Order: sequence, then structure tokens, then C-alpha cells
Amino acid sequence: MFPSDLNLPPKFSEWRRIDSRRTQYDAIIDAASSDKRFIILNAPTGVGKSTIYMGLAAMLGGRTLVLTDSKNLQDQLYRDFAPMGLVEIKGQSNYGCLYFDDGRRTLPGCDEGPCHASIQCNYRDKGCRYYDAVRRAAGSSLVIANYAYWMNVQKFADPESIGVFDRIILDEAHNAASTLADFVKVTIDRAHVFKLLGLEPLRNADIDAWVEWGGEALRVCNDRIEAACASASAYRESVAIVRRLKSLRGELQDLVWAHTWRRTDAPNIPAWIPGTATDWIIEETPTMALFQPVWATAYSEKYLFGGIPSVVMVSATVTPKDAGFLGIPPSYYDYFQYPSPFPLSTRPVYIVPTARVGRSMSVGETRIWLSRIDQIIAKEAVDRGVKGIIHARSYERARQIFAASEHKDLLMIHDPSNTRKTVEQFKRASGAAVLISPAVSTGHDFPLDECRFQIIAKVPFIDNRPAVIQARAKSDRKYLDYIAMVELIQMAGRGVRSESDFCNTYIIDDNFAAWFFPRNRDLVPKWFRSAIRKVRLLSEVA
Ligand code: SF4
Repeated sequence: MFPSDLNLPPKFSEWRRIDSRRTQYDAIIDAASSDKRFIILNAPTGVGKSTIYMGLAAMLGGRTLVLTDSKNLQDQLYRDFAPMGLVEIKGQSNYGCLYFDDGRRTLPGCDEGPCHASIQCNYRDKGCRYYDAVRRAAGSSLVIANYAYWMNVQKFADPESIGVFDRIILDEAHNAASTLADFVKVTIDRAHVFKLLGLEPLRNADIDAWVEWGGEALRVCNDRIEAACASASAYRESVAIVRRLKSLRGELQDLVWAHTWRRTDAPNIPAWIPGTATDWIIEETPTMALFQPVWATAYSEKYLFGGIPSVVMVSATVTPKDAGFLGIPPSYYDYFQYPSPFPLSTRPVYIVPTARVGRSMSVGETRIWLSRIDQIIAKEAVDRGVKGIIHARSYERARQIFAASEHKDLLMIHDPSNTRKTVEQFKRASGAAVLISPAVSTGHDFPLDECRFQIIAKVPFIDNRPAVIQARAKSDRKYLDYIAMVELIQMAGRGVRSESDFCNTYIIDDNFAAWFFPRNRDLVPKWFRSAIRKVRLLSEVA
């Protein structure tokens, strides 16, 4: 059996070898043989996970939906697999609304289309760029979208608008639970609600009072939508008001349904929440009221799995723990873990004793840490003339590293507004260069000479101050460590993208070796564990 026998595009001419015994085809057979609804594939970079799940889709037939969490990845997959019939669908803002087309101006997105305010548009049934894309997707057996689009369709549109699927592939599945939790979060913006509905949201109320208030607000909101649609013109502001009202209606509906929020069934994720009888956390600020589930398990089926008979979760870092976060009991899935096909010598992860990095670092420890970063830059970028990345974890740390470095002429740093531009400049740079960034741990690849070394300056713990994070940490004592470990492994994976690639990764936060790694060995895939090398001195690194 060759890839072409499964209709895979010509660029996938042979099955890639995973180890001495198996190829990608064996991984397809593993998944195809499972009789479980859920299949979890832990497939490190190089295994070629997209070839495996597209091969699986072709082998089993029927309709398959692939979800990704980044536009970059969606675009890349579309380019690679369009020849086998993959059709992409994106959010409405990605398609220009022809209603405004006068041949002169840049078109606003279809999300701003007057049809959303019940204004008749002749393109709705034929010609509209967005609705035509929906129709193309509905007519295809292979569709790619992103998580946000799919969940919005489940919540706001006809869930079957792009058709009924036999299989859903959750790519980058380690992010699925957090993406879902963010999606179901209800945000009541006090000023926004007052402006749109003329109602004052509650203050310091319990969930029952909020549910009651939500019911009243929902009635007002529905009346306002009806009135706004009746008087709407095709002006963008008029349409925008209808859109804002409809979006608020979605939030209010979720709030009103709060009485159906329930405790998770998953035995290993006992629900805990201070002060209320539900699985939700209420956080009020002077401007907002936020309602967040401790675990979004009760919403997995409704917004993510959509009743689809087969769910395939794929990522280099996905583990059974992610299944738990989505409320999938162990008896419902099969878990397959594959080794990295890249030689260990090309992807070493060096643990270099330096300092425990954290807010309580002494002046001396900070100096040692900053000077270790400069030593690695000197060893790699200056002496070898290669490019590398410093994963700084926060913009504050990035600025601190930049300010203290003796190699500023080589450094590139950015803020949230110019990440993309700086990353592109870095990728294009010839000769030695070092990117300091807290924002490239996922969603960016740096193959070959684009990155020959990486410094993980700090174990990437998440901010545990929000009440919902504390509730999750209390409910699952490994939660915070797991999120940090997944992020760290993702960081380390940025620099080695193919068999002919190589990249040295340095972890210089002593928290890693002192307790983080020993305490969490079980969370680390074997392919990453085997790459870890402890050294006493930087000079031991060849
Ligand atoms: S159908 Fe709606 S989104 Fe499409 S062109 Fe018409 S107004 Fe714009």
C-alpha cells in the first residue's frame, strides 16, 4: 500500500518511517483498527501526523472534519491536502462582503454583512464569498476549519450547515480543553450591557440571582434585536448594533442556562468551587462579571464533538490527561504513542545548572542567570554564527534579558503588536541572530538554519492568580505542572522540524531539574524524556 493508494497528494510519495519496525501506514492501521469512539495519537514532530490522519480519513471513507488552532497550520494543511479534495472554511471576517462592492473600496468582512440584520441580499443564495464557501464545505468529504469557527457554528448557526460528519480530527489537541473552556466562558461587560439594553448588571450576586437577572436581560435583548432588525439600514453601524446584540444574546443564553450547569462525571476530576453549588467560578470586577467553568467537560459534546461518531485527538504532546480535561473516561479511548523519528543527537535538551528562576531570585542569582544566557549566545551565535531563540515566557523577562545582554547587536525583540513582523525579520536574517520572545512556543516553526539553538529561560508556569486556575489546581494537583510541561515541550520542538535538521535546546531554570521534572516524569512523552542531557558545565556541550 502506497500513499497514492489512499489518494494522498504526490508530494507524499512514500510512507515515512516512525521507527525500525513501523511506518506511518502502521499508525493508520492502529487508528483504523480501534473500536473506541476516541483515539488519541501522540505523534512528535517528524512522524507526519497530518499524513496519518488524512490517510485514516481516506481509508475509512465518509466525511471528515479537521480542526486546527492556528491560521498558519490551517493554511499549511490546506496547501498540502487540497489536491485530495480538502476544502477550507474560515470565519466570516475572512471573506469580503460583496453587498458593499462598488469597485472602489476595500470590502468589509462578511461578518459585517447587512444580511445579519435581516436585510435582503441577492448574493445570499449564490455569489456570497462566505456562504459559497459554506456550500463548498457542505459538498466536500474533507473539510478543514479552526476550533473557534466550529464551536461558533455549533453555538450560533445551524450545526449542520457544513454537513454531518463521520469523523472529527482535533489537531493540536493538547489545546482543545483550554480552547473549549475559553469559548464557554460568559463575559458580562457592565458598560456594554447598559449601553445596549439600558440595564444595570448585578454586583456581588450569587449564581441564582445572576440566572434570574439573565432571564430578564435576555427578554430585553430579544426585543431590542427585533426592533433593531426592523429598523436596520445597510449602514455598517446599524448592522454592527444588531451583531453586538446577537453576540450579547449568546452570552445571556448561556447565563440563563446556568441552572443546567452540572458537576463533571469524570471520577478523577472532582469538581470544586468556592461559595457556589455549581462547577463554575464567578469573578466580578468593577467593569466585568466573568463566569467560567472549572472544567468544561459538560460542554465537550455540545460544542466540540458535536455528536460525531469518531473523534481523533492528535498532537506531539497530547496525553490521556487531555482526555480527562474533556471528560472522556479511560474506557472510551485508545491511546497510541509514537517515538520521534529524529536521531537523539540532533535534538538534545541540555539541562545547564544556573539558577532557580522566579520572582524571588536574588540579585546574584539574576546576574548568574543573565550571564548564562549571554554565555550560550556567545557559544552558539557568536562563535558558530548561527541563529537561535530565547523563550522568555513574558515580555517583562524578554526586556530584562535584552537590557542586560552584551550581544544587543544580535538580538531581536518585539512586543505584542509586532510579533509577526519581527518573527519574519528573524527568519529572513542571514548569519547570527537571536530572537527573544515569549510568543513563539507554539504556532511557529523554525526549520534548519532558522534556528540552531534555543534557550528555555524559565519553566513556563502559567499565572495561577485567577480564581478559575486556582480551582483547577485544587481539583487536579497536577494541573499547573501539566500545562507548564506541555508548553515547555512545545517550545523545545520549535527548532527540529525534519530528519536533516538539528538544534540544541538549553534549559537554564534550575527548577526543572530540582523538582519539576522528577515530580512530573509521568507527564513527559518518552521521545522527549530520552533527549534530556544533564551537564555540569556549559563547556560539556559539544
Ligand atoms: S449574503 Fe450577507 S455576507 Fe454575503 S454578500 Fe450578502 S450581505 Fe454580505
